[in-house]
Amino acid sequence: MELDVAGIEQAVATGAPPSDSRINALLAEAFAHASKHSEGTVAHYIPILSRADPEAFGLCIADVSGGLHELGDTRRQFSIQSISKAFVFALVCEAIGHERALEIVGVNNTGLAFNSVVAIELNDGHPMNPMVNAGALATTALVPGRTADEQWEAVREGLSLFAGRDLRMDDEVYESESHTNLRNRAIAQLLASYDRIERDPLDVVDVYTRQCSLSVDARDLAAMAATLADGGVNPVTGERVVSATVCRDTLAVLAASGLYEASGEWLFDIGLPGKSGVSGGLITVAPGKVGIGSYAPRLDLAGNSVQGQIATAYLSRAMGLNIFASGSHFRSE
Ligand code: GLN
Repeated sequence: MELDVAGIEQAVATGAPPSDSRINALLAEAFAHASKHSEGTVAHYIPILSRADPEAFGLCIADVSGGLHELGDTRRQFSIQSISKAFVFALVCEAIGHERALEIVGVNNTGLAFNSVVAIELNDGHPMNPMVNAGALATTALVPGRTADEQWEAVREGLSLFAGRDLRMDDEVYESESHTNLRNRAIAQLLASYDRIERDPLDVVDVYTRQCSLSVDARDLAAMAATLADGGVNPVTGERVVSATVCRDTLAVLAASGLYEASGEWLFDIGLPGKSGVSGGLITVAPGKVGIGSYAPRLDLAGNSVQGQIATAYLSRAMGLNIFASGSHFRSE
């Protein structure tokens, strides 16, 4: 329904994150706590991902004043995979606006797996939201550019601005995924059959596969998340990447569907917008405070990093980041 809020200005609640030394101490505690867990398995449906080191674990917090706190394998490179969906959606939202993004891509949770074909059929060919593959493909199709190459360059440059450094594609991951992405090709063609994609669907899959193959480390993810926590300005470079409104819209989508069909449980436990990827990356955004980036490739059944979720849950509680948590107003009087 129409909520009639168009002319009402967005007020922003503030609240300072803990001090640097406190963040470092809590980061160490969260890391040690999550390190005790070895459940889950490394993804293998994209052949090259099965070569990941299951023991790798890096955890990084970037705060909105530009500080970086890191522990473990934060310099290890991996492919960004589905986490790219969050940032490509932000870029597309910036290009086409709130209303059209809502109409064309949608923002409701599917309740089904990230690569579900059934979800498309159940919803009259609508891709539902930008964090599942159908919606991510529909979103990538909307990236400005005359050709697929121009679109790819726009994605690479845009995500590089979020990270604050020049990101490059991992060619091996791209090759591996390109040979095995039959399902994504089917999804794109199904969407095209419903007129939901106006470009060549296989070109769209190619740009999408490239965006998923961008190489990042946990620090990059923390910086990208911190940009979404900082109203669209990268706190390290000081550069504006997207508007504060686009940031807010992107975080709403992440809260509803960033962890696929496990998004409800994630929000219940952690209370923050987040986005995971099958290579084991995870971003979490505490608006106005910090971005958290982690890498730990063992995944649960929904395809979300086990250690990443545990460390983030710890930080959300210990740092007071859960956006739904409040204390009594009267207690402090
Ligand atoms: N590139 C992967 C795919 O399309 C991304 C999936 C993910 O990270 N969940 O299957």
